Amino acid sequence: MEAKKAIFLDKDGTIVRDIPYNVNPDLITLNEGVLDGLELLDSLGYCFIIISNQAGIARGYFEEQDLVGVERRIRQLLNQRGLVLSGFYYCPHSEDGIVPEYSIKCTCRKPGPQLILNAAQDHGIDLLQSWMIGDILDDVEAGKSAGCKSILINNGNEDQWQVNGNLNRIPNWISDDFWDAASFISNQHKTKGNGQRAFEYS
Ligand SMILES: [Mg+2]
Ligand SMILES: [Zn+2]
Repeated sequence: MEAKKAIFLDKDGTIVRDIPYNVNPDLITLNEGVLDGLELLDSLGYCFIIISNQAGIARGYFEEQDLVGVERRIRQLLNQRGLVLSGFYYCPHSEDGIVPEYSIKCTCRKPGPQLILNAAQDHGIDLLQSWMIGDILDDVEAGKSAGCKSILINNGNEDQWQVNGNLNRIPNWISDDFWDAASFISNQHKTKGNGQRAFEYS
């Protein structure tokens, strides 16, 4: 059986309109181009897995249980086009939290690759064929550290641009929106095997 390939998705700001610490399902909306982009990627055989930092749990803004409704709402929104979410992985931790059990220095918070590695293990995913799409360089680093290629959607949420000599923080591509990110991945498939090399991966 062919190994699965995945698009790992940051949630807030990347697929969902960013409302800090929102867990009200009624306020969750997808960003423009997300459904079209996911449809394109679905047609290329990718599965979709959310990889999200949810420090609001450690900071006492909401509870882990509240993410059940968030995940359900996102699944509903994708289902409009028959798209399926294969997994929802999140880090509930924060070193500066107030809820003791979550206020630790963990290994799963992005930019660490642990959530992606866990997801790959659970779902039998070939990381070398997979991509991470996010809107800050911590997402990019998590993806590349896990062995994926990474795309940054430059929507203004990354405002530090700290690379610090870490090549994993340099995206394979920078897009204006989700549709462009999906199109870029699609174009990689088109140029493969016909002698063209549109892009040299670092
Ligand atoms: Mg984000
Ligand atoms: Zn964590």
